[in-house]
Amino acid sequence: MRYISTRGGMAPLEFSDTILMGLAPDGGLALPERYPQISRAQLDAWRGLSYADLAFEIISLFATDIPAVDLKDILDRTYTAEVYGSAAITPVKRLHDGLVILELSNGPTLAFKDMAMQFLGNLFEYVLAKKGEQLNILGATSGDTGSAAEYAMRGKQNINVFMLSPDGLMSPFQRAQMYSLQDANIHNIAIRGMFDDCQDIVKAVQNDHAFKAKYKVGTVNSINWARIVAQVVYYFKGYFNATASNDEQVSFCVPSGNFGNICAGHIARQMGLPVQRLIVATNENDVLDEFFSSGKYAPRGTANTWVTSSPSMDISKASNFERFIFDLVGRDGAQVKALWAQVDSGNGFDLAANLGAVREQFGFVSGKSTHADRLATIRAVDAEDGVVVDTHTADGIKVAREVRLPGETVVCLETALPAKFADTIREALGRDAPRPDGFDGLEDLPQRVTVFDADAAAVKAYIEQTLA
Ligand SMILES: *Cc1c(COP(=O)(O)O)cnc(C)c1O
Repeated sequence: MRYISTRGGMAPLEFSDTILMGLAPDGGLALPERYPQISRAQLDAWRGLSYADLAFEIISLFATDIPAVDLKDILDRTYTAEVYGSAAITPVKRLHDGLVILELSNGPTLAFKDMAMQFLGNLFEYVLAKKGEQLNILGATSGDTGSAAEYAMRGKQNINVFMLSPDGLMSPFQRAQMYSLQDANIHNIAIRGMFDDCQDIVKAVQNDHAFKAKYKVGTVNSINWARIVAQVVYYFKGYFNATASNDEQVSFCVPSGNFGNICAGHIARQMGLPVQRLIVATNENDVLDEFFSSGKYAPRGTANTWVTSSPSMDISKASNFERFIFDLVGRDGAQVKALWAQVDSGNGFDLAANLGAVREQFGFVSGKSTHADRLATIRAVDAEDGVVVDTHTADGIKVAREVRLPGETVVCLETALPAKFADTIREALGRDAPRPDGFDGLEDLPQRVTVFDADAAAVKAYIEQTLA
């Protein structure tokens, strides 16, 4: 299997090269030349597999340049009951109205990003050792991504993580999660500024091509192809867990921001998983809902992006969306390139003429949720089912209930646990969210963090010193 760019300007690459790359050289995103097609016989054979074995079957279709025995070893070490709390890895629960919740947040940082990031940690360590290379991951986080990356990369050979976060702006729980890590290869940098200042520093360092090459600076952001591929697995697993036979269909409802999670659902459906519909749920930052209801994609700037109580969805430019559009326009790289030229010039684009295909051929629908909806949904699910859901998952449940058709089985993806969003849970329920075992006293652990002004030069000097 080889990989091409959504903008049509990249010579095909192998999997191992694709995963260490950020954007393709032409500014596009990597996708396989074609999606593997899963037969009914394969689906039948896969239904009873463990999570790690299923992951092996699926990922080996994409990671064709990694020897099977090595990939198997990586996956067996990644998807363990020890890391994810149960042998099921991604168990499901059913609410009273038949809605299915697929639990994806039982990993070390209590959000679904662990599902892919834990794999990435082991995969990177393996690939870097093979190539004899080093990687220094530089990232900016306002919460979930940074901690998932740090817990995935801690203690890994030939990898350092430099993670920027806005000083004092994350929740005490999120801060403690990241800053309490004592591993020598994890470097927390708090910036006196906002998330955007952190992001700007990362961009400035990346644009210093000499520095970037000298210090092997890379990223693990949501466009990383290995993250998408790892996420495809839980759509299959979720389908098997939610159904009794492969004659059934399900729909998935996904709280969305950068479109990474639901992009994996789209790929699973293209591979032949019996998915009826893919339901995109947004919060008040609803550029994706706007596209899926009107065909108009109009990304917004920071000034028009609201800070909400489902903060990991506060995104107004969905970086993985280009992968879906590539498929929607018949994999025409030249057209994608033209569309993103319009996006970059601030105009967005209008594909209203393709809305029929979006619905019928690709099965997409959408809906949005607000702070009031979130609170009401958290209260209702607690009262009716005795389950406390987090704010992002609540957005998904709200939208799923709104758009569900008679007889449709909808699987809602749980993207985080409520313990991470204590303030909103207290606002909704008047009490604290349950904390999973092992997290008591997290905030009292010693913390390791270096604070700088919002100054790229200071961060570069720190990286230089640390790696010297
Ligand atoms: C990252 C994240 C999302 C959004 O996922 P995308 O892949 O960016 O669409 C939703 N909920 C939570 C809790 C997240 O951490």
